[in-house]
Amino acid sequence: MAYVITSPCIDVKDGACVKCCPVDCIYEGERTLYIHPQECINCGVCVSVCPTEAIYHDEELPPAEASFAAVNREFFDTRVSALGSPGGACEVGRVACDHPEVAVWPVRATN
Ligand code: SF4
Ligand code: SF4
Repeated sequence: MAYVITSPCIDVKDGACVKCCPVDCIYEGERTLYIHPQECINCGVCVSVCPTEAIYHDEELPPAEASFAAVNREFFDTRVSALGSPGGACEVGRVACDHPEVAVWPVRATN
């Protein structure tokens, strides 16, 4: 059980959730942020500050965003960032990669 960042965050990344997370478990990739599923303490504080409504509990994900539970979890695997469980995003800083599903996500059209 953990909270999950979904597709509306991609290419937005304003960082509001990072500033309010009490355990610093929200990590930055190139195009989006990822919540560490073992480090998240399920407080839910980040949900209310997200301007794009991108954050959900993993048991309440909309069907269209269901794959993002794996996206957040797999970001930390050796096949993606290889971060493992660093215990804090601040010292890690921005990671120069994304989960493959995020990396190929279509860029939103801007008017
Ligand atoms: S639910 Fe709480 S601990 Fe988990 S990512 Fe959000 S603010 Fe951080
Ligand atoms: S608050 Fe929402 S849009 Fe902003 S970085 Fe966090 S998940 Fe992304």
